[in-house]
Amino acid sequence: MYIDSHCHINFPELAARLPEIFDKMAENKVTHALCVSVDLPDFPQVLDLADRYDHIYASVGVHPDYVDTPEPSVEQLVALSNHPKIVAIGETGLDYFRLTGDLEWQRERFRVHIRASRATGKPLIIHTRASSEDTIRIMQEEGAGTNAGGAGGVMHCFTESLAVAEAAIAMGFYISFSGIVTFKSARELQAVALAVPLENMLIETDSPYLAPVPHRGKMNEPGLVRHVAEFIASLKGVPVEQVARQTTENFFKLFGMAR
Ligand SMILES: [Zn+2]
Ligand SMILES: [Zn+2]
Repeated sequence: MYIDSHCHINFPELAARLPEIFDKMAENKVTHALCVSVDLPDFPQVLDLADRYDHIYASVGVHPDYVDTPEPSVEQLVALSNHPKIVAIGETGLDYFRLTGDLEWQRERFRVHIRASRATGKPLIIHTRASSEDTIRIMQEEGAGTNAGGAGGVMHCFTESLAVAEAAIAMGFYISFSGIVTFKSARELQAVALAVPLENMLIETDSPYLAPVPHRGKMNEPGLVRHVAEFIASLKGVPVEQVARQTTENFFKLFGMAR
């Protein structure tokens, strides 16, 4: 069995075809998916999915790319996460690729999420793009890591260097690979995936974006996470069952769920 550790099935293009998406998950032995919150106005829909469906978990957070959106407070995130199916805080982090200029507000928003994670003991889902130095620095300053009394978490849709992966792993974070790792052009990332131990790894789709090969360019969905697992298995020269088993175990361990 496989788990999609990061998807956005509440986005309209996926939410409109849920029965079909759930069928596809079952067909591909994808047993669970984590629907990740990107802003507060959409959070009720994310929570509703987790409430209605046993195999869907959810998070609460405000994405670093969302500019004109209500800013969350630590207290608000703590209160909204007080639900058994809300298993993580995020997605949060930094993105200096999509947005430029004075991004102090983005760093402040990131700190708020880390404080909520520490207060609740729920792990962080971290997005980092063209900003890894500041991301790691703020994680350290705010004590995000399990080595600093934090709840740890996951570096989602990882596209950074091995050094960044190792710094995150040292703080008790998992590295999550998406369909990007299957792209022909992703040689450097494939080398990183080869070096990151399965014990520290999660897999995800980040759907509806970034469909893995052989579905590249089409709409992505949680059922396709199997292709990420298959690619990593062939990269490492191990049976796909081993990748499935270990990443599933990692998921339940990180998000603190009984199986
Ligand atoms: Zn992201
Ligand atoms: Zn995402």
